[in-house]
Amino acid sequence: MRCPYCDNQNTRVVDTREASEKVRRRRECSGCDRRFTTYETVEKVDITVIKRDGENEEFREEKIYDGVERAASKTSIT
Ligand SMILES: [Zn+2]
Repeated sequence: MRCPYCDNQNTRVVDTREASEKVRRRRECSGCDRRFTTYETVEKVDITVIKRDGENEEFREEKIYDGVERAASKTSIT
């Protein structure tokens, strides 16, 4: 993490606090001794389905169930 004041690459974490879905860290630059705050969050994993016609669509679990149900409806599979 580069210092926003002097661009130094060496910073150290002086305080860490967890707040719901993110982690807040206070950092201190070892070059200019100034402090700044960073936030760490989890990147959400979005699954996109690329359909046969090339269209993109958000993945929906229900559609899988519906498809399996439809495929099994005319068989002896319960
Ligand atoms: Zn600095």
